[in-house]
Amino acid sequence: MSPSLPLLVVATRNSHKTAEIRTMLHGQWEVKDLSDFPTAPAVDETGVTFTENATLKAISASRCIPGIILADDSGLEVDILGGRPGVWSSSFGGEEGNHELNNKHMIAELAKAGVSAGDKPSARFKCVMILAKEGKVLAEFAGCVEGSMLTELTGSGGFGYDPLFVPEGYEMSFAELPMEVKNSMSHRGRALAQVIEWMKAQVN
Ligand code: IMP
Repeated sequence: MSPSLPLLVVATRNSHKTAEIRTMLHGQWEVKDLSDFPTAPAVDETGVTFTENATLKAISASRCIPGIILADDSGLEVDILGGRPGVWSSSFGGEEGNHELNNKHMIAELAKAGVSAGDKPSARFKCVMILAKEGKVLAEFAGCVEGSMLTELTGSGGFGYDPLFVPEGYEMSFAELPMEVKNSMSHRGRALAQVIEWMKAQVN
């Protein structure tokens, strides 16, 4: 990676999120995350909205890491489950960040709600991105992708609920689609496209 690239630090320890963001920035930015800053404190995601949690993460990291910090808070809202798991997506199965448990729990909750194979209940992934510097929020962006849920795991790519989510207009799950296709219309891709425009406007 060229040292002349501007640095963007993503306030996450989720390597999948970092990989998606790094790919979407097409080598225009050097992308690091909190694994490169092991002394950055862990943040209690006590917010009840994506914006609140993304802000907590961005502010906390920007107080101890110089430059621009990007925090992403994201999750899946399933209509038949009353919008759950939403901001609690990463611990839906009972253990923070355990995607296997989360997916098992999701399949069980869909069955409990009476969903059968082929029903395609509606859902959406949402993402809020906050940019911060030196403890202050610089900007906020949001992205969303509508779709539907599967009742069994399908595909082996991606992360999280990707094997259970089919984006609108496609027949394959996020875990079956190539990463560039997911990134071109995902909640994270849509929020990041706005971040990129904002960053460009700062340099020009
Ligand atoms: P966060 O790290 O608190 O933002 O948690 C986000 C959680 O939402 C992840 O742990 C996943 O369970 C889920 N999630 C967010 N974005 C995606 C995605 O692109 N694919 C699959 N699951 C996702």
